[in-house]
Amino acid sequence: MKQAKTIAIIGGGVSGLSAAYYAQLSFPGSRIVLLESALRLGGVLQTDHVDGFTIERSADMFVTDPPHAFDVCQRLGRDQQLIQTTPTKDRAFVATDDSIHPVPSGLSLMLPNDLDSVLESPLLDEAAKQLFREERNVAARSSDDDESLESFAVRRYGQSVFEQLVQPLVSGIYTADPKKLSMNATMKRFVDMEQKHGSLIRAAEESKSSSHEKQASGARYGLFRAPENGMEQLVNWLADSLTQTEIKLSSQVDQIRKVDSGWEIEILNLNGKRAESGETVVADGVVIATSARIAGKFLDNVDAKLAKELQTIQAASSAIVVMGVDCDQLSKQFDGYGIIVPAVLGRKVIATSFSSNKFAGRAPEGKLLIRTFIGGALQPELVELTDDELVEIAMEELDATVGFSGQPELSRVYRWRNCMPQYHLGHVERVESIDAMSNQHLGLQLAGNSYRGVGIPACIQSGLEAIERLGKEISDQ
Ligand SMILES: Cc1cc2nc3c(=O)[nH]c(=O)nc-3n(C[C@H](O)[C@H](O)[C@H](O)COP(=O)(O)OP(=O)(O)OC[C@H]3O[C@@H](n4cnc5c(N)ncnc54)[C@H](O)[C@@H]3O)c2cc1C
Repeated sequence: MKQAKTIAIIGGGVSGLSAAYYAQLSFPGSRIVLLESALRLGGVLQTDHVDGFTIERSADMFVTDPPHAFDVCQRLGRDQQLIQTTPTKDRAFVATDDSIHPVPSGLSLMLPNDLDSVLESPLLDEAAKQLFREERNVAARSSDDDESLESFAVRRYGQSVFEQLVQPLVSGIYTADPKKLSMNATMKRFVDMEQKHGSLIRAAEESKSSSHEKQASGARYGLFRAPENGMEQLVNWLADSLTQTEIKLSSQVDQIRKVDSGWEIEILNLNGKRAESGETVVADGVVIATSARIAGKFLDNVDAKLAKELQTIQAASSAIVVMGVDCDQLSKQFDGYGIIVPAVLGRKVIATSFSSNKFAGRAPEGKLLIRTFIGGALQPELVELTDDELVEIAMEELDATVGFSGQPELSRVYRWRNCMPQYHLGHVERVESIDAMSNQHLGLQLAGNSYRGVGIPACIQSGLEAIERLGKEISDQ
């Protein structure tokens, strides 16, 4: 058993919660303190229950591969309370100027597991299809320097395939500017496929005939899971397990300092003034599980170079308009999970997600719960529109895609400012350099969505790995 220590975790989102959970397991008998500036735990994960609708304010699911989110649910004995997507509606659509068409079956972002379905799709014109076919003859890139999504996709498939298929499929995940989004940080598997097989089409073909190469075939809906009552349950499950952790809400960390005995963490109250108690926590080890930008602020006095590097990791903002509508308000039944909108169409919506088609129990019988994503790196100014303006945009988009009349019986707008980290060109090297610098500071660890993945499993993994590294660093002191 390790010697008792004090471990402080800053940030009570899913990354910090998982760090606290694994700290309890790794440092039994130690003092574990979780510091969260908000009045509640969970960070961006929040679920509202209104008039029979289950509304996700941000994430609405996690994937089971990578396995870290599912693993933690299993460890907590909650995996039986996870639900899967509704299989009969497991299709996504892409908008065109005057219609919507299904994403070609088997297309996994850029990997065509079913070439015919791409070549038959009305989403691409004949010229685009011809370029698509010729991808197998496009020489692999010789440089291993990082490349942007746009450069990679245009190089392999041509401009119109990028604009009509790849950009919308990817922007739904990262709300990113494809000119800046790093392939190495976000879609390295495609870079590796190009190097190994010379072409993505060939990679898809060869993986079909090879039983041992694991490939996702099309969208991975079978891997989607959500707690039956919404994502906030995951937060509650983790929080309930933290019986050995002092959870301090409304505790905004202002600064951290290195002291002889480890780390001194200065906390402010919610008003931004110094806490009357003048509370500071002194810890042997600290995990900063906030965004990199905020971590950079804390560390300015500890290591200005590290702080500066952390603050180069930007984040995009977005707004989600949630609407509860009657099924009869749509001109026709829509049997899909959502509709993504290519940026090239010049519309104001990134995607519309039909939450109640995706997961059962999200809307009362005869009603639909619809979430419209607006803003992101390409249209940040839209996030600052008024709620009414944003709801109007969402209704117009719904009308343009599936036909909508009347007013929603429920509408809500949630804004997420600077919450989606942007893995820009060079991100992998940036994170390696951050690691090298933070490794110089014994007992300091970083976790969260700014570094090695924005999805919930990656966040949970970041908490786990931060605690593992901390264990190696401070347990023998
Ligand atoms: C709109 C949206 C939709 C998404 N959809 C999905 C999805 O469907 N599936 C999926 O897997 N992922 C999704 N994600 C990504 C995923 O939800 C996030 O990456 C993840 O929840 C981030 O967790 P985190 O703990 O790293 O950060 P956060 O949730 O941002 O938590 C950080 C915490 O730190 C606290 N904090 C900040 N400053 C201080 C301070 N000074 N002192 C103390 N505490 C502080 C904050 O209050 C917050 O609670 C989505 C994200 C967004 C924004």
